[in-house]
Amino acid sequence: MSNLTESSGYSHEDARFHELDAKALASMRTQLDAKRAAAAAVAAKVAHWLRCPKCGGEMQEQSFENVSIDQCTSCKGVYFDSGELELLLSHSKARAGLMGRLFSR
Ligand SMILES: [Zn+2]
Repeated sequence: MSNLTESSGYSHEDARFHELDAKALASMRTQLDAKRAAAAAVAAKVAHWLRCPKCGGEMQEQSFENVSIDQCTSCKGVYFDSGELELLLSHSKARAGLMGRLFSR
């Protein structure tokens, strides 16, 4: 009674080569998937860069009360960079305080 693999010409050495090929292919697949994921992340960033998060329209930088804001040219939505809303609110509170003092007399 002979071994099926030996009788069909399929040796243990061939099996070892197949195993190495499978590992090499898996490694190449992992590297290719990582490259594709990185390229997709770059494409997504480029597609959304300076675009309105609500409608995808173009954002235009404007100055409002000496604070820089980004406003959508399509839906007119407004986006504040970090710290700019707090700056605008502090201007408003200061002005409201001044107006309160002016009209309380
Ligand atoms: Zn918009």
